[in-house]
Amino acid sequence: MSKQEIRVRIAPSPTGDPHIGTAYIALFNYVFSKKHEGKFIIRIEDTDQTRYRAESEAMILDAIRWFGIEWDEGPDKGGPYGPYKQSERLEHYQKAAKELVLSSHAYYCFCTSERLADLRKKQTESKLPPGYDRHCRNLDPKEAETRVNAGEKHVVRFKVPTSGATSFEDGIRGKVEFENSKLDDLVILKADGFPTYHLASVVDDHLMKISHVIRGEAWVSSTPKHVLLYNAFGWTAPHFTHLNLLRNPDKSKISKRKHPTSILYYKRKGILPEVLRNFLALMGWNPGGDQEIFSTEEMIEKFSWDRFSL
Ligand code: GLU
Ligand code: ZN
Repeated sequence: MSKQEIRVRIAPSPTGDPHIGTAYIALFNYVFSKKHEGKFIIRIEDTDQTRYRAESEAMILDAIRWFGIEWDEGPDKGGPYGPYKQSERLEHYQKAAKELVLSSHAYYCFCTSERLADLRKKQTESKLPPGYDRHCRNLDPKEAETRVNAGEKHVVRFKVPTSGATSFEDGIRGKVEFENSKLDDLVILKADGFPTYHLASVVDDHLMKISHVIRGEAWVSSTPKHVLLYNAFGWTAPHFTHLNLLRNPDKSKISKRKHPTSILYYKRKGILPEVLRNFLALMGWNPGGDQEIFSTEEMIEKFSWDRFSL
Protein backbone atom coordinates (compact mmCIF):
# COMPACT_ATOMS: atom_id res chain seq x y z
CA MET A 1 0.00 0.00 0.00
CA SER A 2 1.25 3.47 -0.79
CA LYS A 3 1.88 5.91 2.01
CA GLN A 4 -0.84 8.50 2.59
CA GLU A 5 0.03 11.76 0.86
CA ILE A 6 0.60 14.64 3.24
CA ARG A 7 -1.85 17.41 2.42
CA VAL A 8 -2.19 20.50 4.58
CA ARG A 9 -3.98 23.79 4.20
CA ILE A 10 -4.45 27.24 5.52
CA ALA A 11 -8.00 28.50 5.44
CA PRO A 12 -7.97 32.26 5.87
CA SER A 13 -11.19 34.25 6.03
CA PRO A 14 -11.19 37.38 3.88
CA THR A 15 -12.34 39.72 6.60
CA GLY A 16 -9.59 42.32 6.66
CA ASP A 17 -5.87 42.89 6.30
CA PRO A 18 -3.77 39.72 5.97
CA HIS A 19 -2.79 38.91 9.55
CA ILE A 20 0.76 38.11 10.63
CA GLY A 21 -0.66 35.06 12.47
CA THR A 22 -1.76 33.69 9.09
CA ALA A 23 1.83 33.96 7.84
CA TYR A 24 3.04 32.14 10.95
CA ILE A 25 0.55 29.26 10.56
CA ALA A 26 1.20 29.17 6.81
CA LEU A 27 4.94 28.83 7.36
CA PHE A 28 4.60 25.75 9.56
CA ASN A 29 2.06 24.16 7.23
CA TYR A 30 4.35 24.82 4.28
CA VAL A 31 7.50 23.53 5.96
CA PHE A 32 5.73 20.40 7.23
CA SER A 33 4.28 19.63 3.79
CA LYS A 34 7.62 20.13 2.00
CA LYS A 35 9.44 18.05 4.59
CA HIS A 36 7.18 15.16 3.59
CA GLU A 37 6.95 15.92 -0.14
CA GLY A 38 3.30 16.77 0.32
CA LYS A 39 0.97 19.50 -0.83
CA PHE A 40 0.24 22.91 0.67
CA ILE A 41 -3.20 24.30 -0.12
CA ILE A 42 -4.91 27.65 0.36
CA ARG A 43 -8.65 27.64 0.81
CA ILE A 44 -10.61 30.84 1.21
CA GLU A 45 -13.25 30.62 3.95
CA ASP A 46 -15.71 33.29 2.93
CA THR A 47 -18.96 31.93 4.33
CA ASP A 48 -19.48 34.68 6.87
CA GLN A 49 -21.18 37.16 4.58
CA THR A 50 -21.47 39.79 7.30
CA ARG A 51 -17.70 40.05 7.71
CA TYR A 52 -16.72 39.52 4.09
CA ARG A 53 -14.47 42.12 2.43
CA ALA A 54 -13.98 41.65 -1.29
CA GLU A 55 -10.52 43.25 -1.48
CA SER A 56 -9.22 41.10 1.33
CA GLU A 57 -8.93 37.86 -0.63
CA ALA A 58 -6.44 39.21 -3.17
CA MET A 59 -4.55 40.97 -0.38
CA ILE A 60 -4.15 37.69 1.51
CA LEU A 61 -2.83 35.84 -1.55
CA ASP A 62 -0.48 38.70 -2.42
CA ALA A 63 0.79 38.90 1.14
CA ILE A 64 1.49 35.16 1.41
CA ARG A 65 3.22 35.26 -1.96
CA TRP A 66 5.35 38.21 -0.88
CA PHE A 67 6.11 36.33 2.35
CA GLY A 68 7.71 33.82 0.04
CA ILE A 69 5.86 30.57 0.31
CA GLU A 70 4.10 29.12 -2.67
CA TRP A 71 1.00 26.97 -2.58
CA ASP A 72 0.29 23.94 -4.75
CA GLU A 73 -3.49 24.36 -4.97
CA GLY A 74 -5.62 27.42 -4.33
CA PRO A 75 -8.35 29.75 -5.55
CA ASP A 76 -6.15 31.44 -8.15
CA LYS A 77 -4.48 28.33 -9.52
CA GLY A 78 -7.07 25.60 -9.08
CA GLY A 79 -6.22 21.98 -8.41
CA PRO A 80 -7.90 18.58 -8.34
CA TYR A 81 -10.29 19.35 -5.45
CA GLY A 82 -11.51 22.84 -6.32
CA PRO A 83 -13.07 25.27 -6.21
CA TYR A 84 -10.94 26.52 -3.32
CA LYS A 85 -13.37 29.16 -2.18
CA GLN A 86 -16.20 28.16 0.10
CA SER A 87 -18.86 30.46 -1.35
CA GLU A 88 -18.49 28.45 -4.57
CA ARG A 89 -19.01 25.14 -2.79
CA LEU A 90 -22.42 25.65 -1.15
CA GLU A 91 -23.96 22.58 -2.76
CA HIS A 92 -21.45 20.34 -0.95
CA TYR A 93 -22.41 21.72 2.46
CA GLN A 94 -26.13 21.62 1.76
CA LYS A 95 -25.89 18.02 0.62
CA ALA A 96 -23.83 17.11 3.69
CA ALA A 97 -26.29 18.81 6.08
CA LYS A 98 -29.18 16.98 4.46
CA GLU A 99 -27.29 13.71 4.82
CA LEU A 100 -26.93 14.29 8.56
CA VAL A 101 -30.63 15.12 8.92
CA LEU A 102 -31.55 11.91 7.11
CA SER A 103 -29.26 9.84 9.32
CA SER A 104 -30.73 11.54 12.45
CA HIS A 105 -27.42 13.20 13.34
CA ALA A 106 -28.89 16.65 12.74
CA TYR A 107 -32.29 18.33 12.82
CA TYR A 108 -34.16 21.37 11.57
CA CYS A 109 -34.56 24.16 14.08
CA PHE A 110 -37.28 26.75 13.58
CA CYS A 111 -36.58 28.87 16.65
CA THR A 112 -36.91 32.57 15.93
CA SER A 113 -34.23 35.05 16.92
CA GLU A 114 -36.74 36.48 19.43
CA ARG A 115 -37.11 33.10 21.10
CA LEU A 116 -33.33 32.63 21.24
CA ALA A 117 -32.81 36.13 22.63
CA ASP A 118 -35.45 35.49 25.27
CA LEU A 119 -33.84 32.16 26.17
CA ARG A 120 -30.46 33.83 26.54
CA LYS A 121 -31.92 36.55 28.75
CA LYS A 122 -33.53 33.97 31.05
CA GLN A 123 -30.28 31.97 31.21
CA THR A 124 -28.31 35.08 32.13
CA GLU A 125 -30.85 36.06 34.77
CA SER A 126 -30.73 32.64 36.43
CA LYS A 127 -26.91 32.56 36.03
CA LEU A 128 -27.08 29.49 33.79
CA PRO A 129 -24.52 28.96 31.02
CA PRO A 130 -25.83 30.32 27.73
CA GLY A 131 -26.74 27.81 25.08
CA TYR A 132 -29.48 26.39 22.91
CA ASP A 133 -32.08 24.42 24.92
CA ARG A 134 -32.58 21.76 22.20
CA HIS A 135 -36.18 22.86 21.80
CA CYS A 136 -36.46 21.48 18.25
CA ARG A 137 -34.38 18.34 18.77
CA ASN A 138 -37.41 16.15 19.42
CA LEU A 139 -39.76 17.48 16.77
CA ASP A 140 -41.25 14.79 14.63
CA PRO A 141 -38.90 14.56 11.60
CA LYS A 142 -41.79 14.18 9.15
CA GLU A 143 -43.50 17.25 10.53
CA ALA A 144 -40.25 19.22 10.42
CA GLU A 145 -39.71 18.21 6.81
CA THR A 146 -43.22 19.44 5.92
CA ARG A 147 -42.49 22.81 7.54
CA VAL A 148 -39.22 23.09 5.61
CA ASN A 149 -40.93 22.26 2.34
CA ALA A 150 -43.59 24.86 3.11
CA GLY A 151 -40.81 27.45 3.19
CA GLU A 152 -40.61 28.07 6.94
CA LYS A 153 -37.36 29.75 7.98
CA HIS A 154 -34.98 27.29 9.63
CA VAL A 155 -31.40 26.35 10.40
CA VAL A 156 -29.87 22.88 10.69
CA ARG A 157 -28.40 21.91 14.04
CA PHE A 158 -26.08 19.04 14.85
CA LYS A 159 -27.18 16.61 17.58
CA VAL A 160 -24.35 16.55 20.07
CA PRO A 161 -24.45 13.53 22.40
CA THR A 162 -25.62 14.67 25.85
CA SER A 163 -23.22 12.44 27.76
CA GLY A 164 -19.76 10.97 27.33
CA ALA A 165 -16.65 12.74 26.13
CA THR A 166 -14.94 13.45 22.83
CA SER A 167 -11.20 13.45 22.50
CA PHE A 168 -8.50 13.79 19.92
CA GLU A 169 -4.76 13.36 19.85
CA ASP A 170 -3.10 16.72 19.25
CA GLY A 171 0.24 16.55 17.46
CA ILE A 172 1.88 18.72 20.13
CA ARG A 173 -0.47 18.72 23.13
CA GLY A 174 -1.25 15.00 23.22
CA LYS A 175 -4.71 13.87 24.26
CA VAL A 176 -7.29 16.63 24.51
CA GLU A 177 -10.71 15.73 25.87
CA PHE A 178 -13.99 17.61 26.15
CA GLU A 179 -17.19 16.60 27.92
CA ASN A 180 -20.02 16.40 25.42
CA SER A 181 -22.45 17.90 27.93
CA LYS A 182 -20.49 21.16 27.69
CA LEU A 183 -21.08 21.39 23.93
CA ASP A 184 -24.10 23.00 22.34
CA ASP A 185 -26.21 21.60 19.50
CA LEU A 186 -24.33 23.75 17.05
CA VAL A 187 -25.83 25.27 13.93
CA ILE A 188 -24.24 23.70 10.85
CA LEU A 189 -26.34 25.31 8.14
CA LYS A 190 -27.66 28.83 8.51
CA ALA A 191 -31.05 30.20 7.42
CA ASP A 192 -29.50 31.70 4.28
CA GLY A 193 -28.28 28.26 3.15
CA PHE A 194 -24.65 29.08 4.02
CA PRO A 195 -22.75 26.65 6.22
CA THR A 196 -21.17 27.63 9.48
CA TYR A 197 -17.40 27.39 9.81
CA HIS A 198 -17.63 23.97 11.52
CA LEU A 199 -19.55 22.20 8.77
CA ALA A 200 -17.69 23.86 5.90
CA SER A 201 -14.30 23.16 7.40
CA VAL A 202 -15.03 19.47 8.02
CA VAL A 203 -16.64 18.87 4.63
CA ASP A 204 -13.79 20.61 2.81
CA ASP A 205 -10.98 19.04 4.77
CA HIS A 206 -12.56 15.69 3.94
CA LEU A 207 -13.24 16.38 0.25
CA MET A 208 -9.83 18.00 -0.23
CA LYS A 209 -8.17 14.97 1.40
CA ILE A 210 -6.41 17.04 4.04
CA SER A 211 -4.25 14.68 6.10
CA HIS A 212 -3.09 17.15 8.80
CA VAL A 213 -4.90 20.19 10.12
CA ILE A 214 -2.32 22.57 11.55
CA ARG A 215 -3.95 25.72 12.92
CA GLY A 216 -3.94 28.21 15.75
CA GLU A 217 -4.80 27.28 19.33
CA ALA A 218 -7.95 29.40 19.13
CA TRP A 219 -9.51 26.43 17.35
CA VAL A 220 -8.78 23.77 20.01
CA SER A 221 -12.31 24.02 21.42
CA SER A 222 -13.81 23.62 17.92
CA THR A 223 -12.00 20.36 17.28
CA PRO A 224 -14.25 18.07 19.40
CA LYS A 225 -17.21 19.37 17.38
CA HIS A 226 -15.32 18.53 14.22
CA VAL A 227 -14.45 15.05 15.51
CA LEU A 228 -18.14 14.43 16.26
CA LEU A 229 -19.02 15.58 12.74
CA TYR A 230 -16.43 13.26 11.17
CA ASN A 231 -17.86 10.38 13.17
CA ALA A 232 -21.43 11.20 12.16
CA PHE A 233 -20.43 11.21 8.50
CA GLY A 234 -18.45 8.01 8.95
CA TRP A 235 -15.28 9.76 7.73
CA THR A 236 -11.76 9.43 9.10
CA ALA A 237 -10.68 12.66 10.79
CA PRO A 238 -7.33 14.25 9.87
CA HIS A 239 -4.55 14.63 12.44
CA PHE A 240 -4.86 17.86 14.40
CA THR A 241 -2.05 20.07 15.62
CA HIS A 242 -2.74 23.42 17.28
CA LEU A 243 0.05 25.97 17.38
CA ASN A 244 0.43 28.73 19.94
CA LEU A 245 -0.69 32.21 19.04
CA LEU A 246 1.83 34.97 18.57
CA ARG A 247 2.19 36.94 21.79
CA ASN A 248 3.82 40.03 23.17
CA PRO A 249 6.83 39.63 25.47
CA ASP A 250 4.39 40.01 28.42
CA LYS A 251 2.42 37.01 27.03
CA SER A 252 -0.64 39.05 26.10
CA LYS A 253 -2.14 38.42 22.68
CA ILE A 254 -1.15 40.74 19.89
CA SER A 255 -4.15 42.68 18.74
CA LYS A 256 -4.71 44.99 15.85
CA ARG A 257 -6.12 47.70 18.10
CA LYS A 258 -2.74 48.05 19.78
CA HIS A 259 -0.16 46.82 17.29
CA PRO A 260 0.40 46.50 13.59
CA THR A 261 -0.71 42.93 12.80
CA SER A 262 -0.87 43.16 9.03
CA ILE A 263 1.73 41.27 7.00
CA LEU A 264 1.72 44.30 4.71
CA TYR A 265 2.96 46.50 7.55
CA TYR A 266 6.22 44.53 7.64
CA LYS A 267 6.49 44.74 3.89
CA ARG A 268 6.01 48.52 3.99
CA LYS A 269 8.63 48.79 6.73
CA GLY A 270 11.14 47.21 4.38
CA ILE A 271 11.51 43.98 6.32
CA LEU A 272 12.80 41.28 3.99
CA PRO A 273 10.47 38.29 3.63
CA GLU A 274 13.28 35.81 4.40
CA VAL A 275 13.97 37.69 7.63
CA LEU A 276 10.31 37.61 8.60
CA ARG A 277 10.17 33.87 7.86
CA ASN A 278 13.25 33.28 9.99
CA PHE A 279 11.81 35.39 12.80
CA LEU A 280 8.39 33.71 12.76
CA ALA A 281 9.96 30.25 12.59
CA LEU A 282 11.82 30.93 15.83
CA MET A 283 8.59 32.01 17.54
CA GLY A 284 7.67 28.35 17.81
CA TRP A 285 10.60 26.23 16.80
CA ASN A 286 14.34 25.99 17.05
CA PRO A 287 16.71 23.59 15.39
CA GLY A 288 18.79 23.08 18.54
CA GLY A 289 22.16 24.65 19.27
CA ASP A 290 22.53 28.37 18.97
CA GLN A 291 21.92 28.84 15.29
CA GLU A 292 19.58 31.77 14.85
CA ILE A 293 19.76 32.40 11.15
CA PHE A 294 18.67 29.84 8.64
CA SER A 295 16.87 29.71 5.35
CA THR A 296 13.46 28.13 4.85
CA GLU A 297 15.16 25.30 2.89
CA GLU A 298 17.32 24.61 5.91
CA MET A 299 14.28 24.73 8.14
CA ILE A 300 12.55 22.15 5.96
CA GLU A 301 15.59 19.93 6.17
CA LYS A 302 15.83 20.15 9.97
CA PHE A 303 12.15 20.39 10.82
CA SER A 304 10.42 18.16 13.36
CA TRP A 305 7.56 18.82 15.78
CA ASP A 306 9.59 17.69 18.76
CA ARG A 307 11.61 20.88 18.48
CA PHE A 308 8.43 22.92 18.51
CA SER A 309 7.53 24.52 21.78
CA LEU A 310 4.25 26.04 22.92
N1 GLU B 1 -11.23 30.36 8.65
C1 GLU B 1 -10.51 30.02 9.83
C2 GLU B 1 -9.55 31.16 10.12
O1 GLU B 1 -9.79 32.23 9.66
C3 GLU B 1 -9.79 28.70 9.63
C4 GLU B 1 -9.49 27.94 10.87
C5 GLU B 1 -8.95 26.56 10.52
O2 GLU B 1 -7.81 26.48 10.10
O3 GLU B 1 -9.72 25.59 10.61
O4 GLU B 1 -8.56 31.05 10.80
ZN1 ZN C 1 -35.21 25.36 17.58
